[in-house]
Amino acid sequence: MNFDDLGLSADLLRAVNDQGYSEPTPVQQQAIPLILQGKDVMASAQTGTGKTAGFVLPMLHRLSTERLKGRRPVRALVLTPTRELAAQVSDSVSTYGKYMLLRQAAVFGGVRIQPQIQKLRRGVDILVATPGRLLDHVNQKTVDLSTVDMVVLDEADRMLDMGFIHDIRKILALMPDTRQTVMFSATFSTSIRRLADELLDQPTLVEVAARNTAAENVNQLVHPVDQHRKRDLLSFIIGDGNWQQVLVFTRTKHGADRLARQLAQDGLKTTAIHGNKSQAARTRALSDFKRGSVRVLVATDVAARGLDIDTLPHVVNFELPNVPEDYVHRIGRTGRAGNEGDAISLVSADEYYMLKNIERLLNRDITKNVIPGYEPETPMPTRSSRPRRGGGGRRSGGGGGQGRFKSRSNNAAAPVRRSSSRSEGTGSRRPASVGPARPQKRSQTA
Ligand code: AMP
Repeated sequence: MNFDDLGLSADLLRAVNDQGYSEPTPVQQQAIPLILQGKDVMASAQTGTGKTAGFVLPMLHRLSTERLKGRRPVRALVLTPTRELAAQVSDSVSTYGKYMLLRQAAVFGGVRIQPQIQKLRRGVDILVATPGRLLDHVNQKTVDLSTVDMVVLDEADRMLDMGFIHDIRKILALMPDTRQTVMFSATFSTSIRRLADELLDQPTLVEVAARNTAAENVNQLVHPVDQHRKRDLLSFIIGDGNWQQVLVFTRTKHGADRLARQLAQDGLKTTAIHGNKSQAARTRALSDFKRGSVRVLVATDVAARGLDIDTLPHVVNFELPNVPEDYVHRIGRTGRAGNEGDAISLVSADEYYMLKNIERLLNRDITKNVIPGYEPETPMPTRSSRPRRGGGGRRSGGGGGQGRFKSRSNNAAAPVRRSSSRSEGTGSRRPASVGPARPQKRSQTA
């Protein structure tokens, strides 16, 4: 399928062509026509699948077909969980809308509200916002949401995790009932389905990746190692592999700062990004990292959400996340847009149970490889010593010895293509253009 087949305007096709995209990704192929038809859509797509263009392109198309007169009311709203993601969606709106005359603003916390107010006063067609700051504007009456006829909830699962549900309900209650609502989520958890039932009107389901499945072109590997040796091992791996751009995850802000300091002492140009840093510091850290002047970016889960670095080759879990789904999000930072990537986890004895939970979620074992000289004092338990509930039949030894890195697949096809074929079963269970299994009327009680 080509972009030309999707029914997008010439201005948008030109902008897409400028980006060098040869064909729409599976989420784009499925979501764009539905959104253009004005349907409510609930899409499950991880970062790296091209999901942003999947909603920005049809949103811009729909806005451009309506004639503008006089004052510019906000007609489309994108809600995101983090400032970084808001900034990136806003960049995408600029990129894809560069041949159009639409105006947009991004409003998020951590920066002064006054310039945002001035921009809103001049009139915008598209607003990209984090929920908290948007409600600040609502309270100050600097934005009117009663004219919004399309809303996108981006990374809805993360917004739920971050406790934005009440804010989202309040915001949606300010919009007309007739609006189009589109929801993107990396996973289809029960709570996400419930939210979709509540907020969307007979949505069409788009699922391009199997539920909770990590991107297939990410080579995942676990190095069992003692906690106190992780930092040495990380420095060794980065130096030995001559990695020039690596994103490292820690669980806490404090841990991120400490590790960044230690790696810097080891001679690696490192910076940390987390919620305690000012927006300016976070933006600077990200652009230094993207430019290559910083080699290692240490981040917490929340701060890393939405980071879009086109060809990030290496992600390291310095500590495993408490929530297994976060592992999927983390490693989705690499292996994007058809590129291959390595996701390495340094796992100490106290984290073995977390690793098991992650493997259970992924429904696969991750290859383990002890690096000589970094053997852990407490070896990783083998499957036989830890009986699993419910059987399962998948078995593999723990201490796999495939060498440091698994050989890369020669299959250069975009991961999304493979995901799509896997998802056909999901789509075919429902007739085309019919709502989900449990369509319900939209309820707007805040
Ligand atoms: P996203 O999943 O929206 O974060 O997008 C991940 C990356 O894919 C971004 O860097 C986009 O620029 C890129 N991208 C989006 N659509 C396409 C496409 N059709 N072909 C190639 N790359 C794309």
